[in-house]
Amino acid sequence: MQKILEKALHTASLSHEEIITLLGSQDAAPLFKAADSVRRQTLGDEIYLRALIEFSNFCRNNCCYCGIRRDNKKLNRYRLTPEQIIALGNQAAQQGFKTVVLQSGEDVWFDVKILTDIITELKKFDLAVTLSIGEKSREEYLAYRQAGADRYLLRIETTDQELYHRLDPGMSWHNRRRCLQDLKELGYEVGSGVMVGLPEQSLSSLADDILFFKELDVDMCGIGPFIPHPDTPLAACEGRAFELALKVMAITRLLLPDINIPATTAMETLRPQGRLIALQSGANVIMPNITNFECRKLYELYPNKAKTQDNGPDSLTTVLAEIKSIGRILGKGYGGHRRKKY
Ligand code: SAM
Repeated sequence: MQKILEKALHTASLSHEEIITLLGSQDAAPLFKAADSVRRQTLGDEIYLRALIEFSNFCRNNCCYCGIRRDNKKLNRYRLTPEQIIALGNQAAQQGFKTVVLQSGEDVWFDVKILTDIITELKKFDLAVTLSIGEKSREEYLAYRQAGADRYLLRIETTDQELYHRLDPGMSWHNRRRCLQDLKELGYEVGSGVMVGLPEQSLSSLADDILFFKELDVDMCGIGPFIPHPDTPLAACEGRAFELALKVMAITRLLLPDINIPATTAMETLRPQGRLIALQSGANVIMPNITNFECRKLYELYPNKAKTQDNGPDSLTTVLAEIKSIGRILGKGYGGHRRKKY
């Protein structure tokens, strides 16, 4: 393992085999330490915050793992108005955030006109705008970019195409890949990512995922454990692979030393201090949720996601105290991808 880590530290590259060896290691502490040291050397101690607005839980898709899938009839659906979204953006800017992330299910009520108007208004608050609203046409991505959107998050979910098509009925892996390509070509900072611990997902497939991030040359990468939701077809699956997800994240940091990597909410959900552990194993971004509590509860991708206490993990006081507790500092500015030579 030490030899592989040294190679990664010197070259920021690893073979498929070497990645599998790291993923299968019994004692991953040296891997997490190496990822933390790469993060420190490349990006320093700044942690960047992104204000997350979950603005609609309507979704036309039927992903088997996801609590807001179309066929989950038990879920009450909500949609914030454009005015509410803009007001939350204003609030985020006043609290000192420099980025807002607009996330939703694939909700066709938000057409190009409505969304471009929202983006235009949000840009007036001097915010970087990140979208995470799923698969769209190239023309739509262009319209959002021209309205001022800066970044886009679209997880590939898994690079195992067979697994993808089983878990995302009616969707096409190649279309998702096309979206990522379009977004790159249109000048967005592009984030992708996967879930870890999906049924029948192998270590080899996770190694492919990591090499895919490298090949796509992503600017951001969100990696989270899959957590089964009781009202989905995957209710009985095991999932909850915290340690394995942490390994995937740490190896991604070794291969892409300067990208932005969030400590994901799914990690925080599975482990007390999961976010702090991630921040000390390669992550450098936190995405506090600023959606109002009533809606946040309904954006239930998986159970216990919404921590609705006032002083919960999303509160700015908690976040700032956590950052301080591990000797890190709050990043200033937009915190975009600062490409370094390595
Ligand atoms: N609709 C947009 C899209 O498709 O990119 C954004 C919203 S989607 C719900 C956000 C992410 O939630 C997905 O990319 C997926 O990785 C994650 N997710 C969904 N269900 C999950 C689960 N049960 N456990 C962990 N992550 C989950």
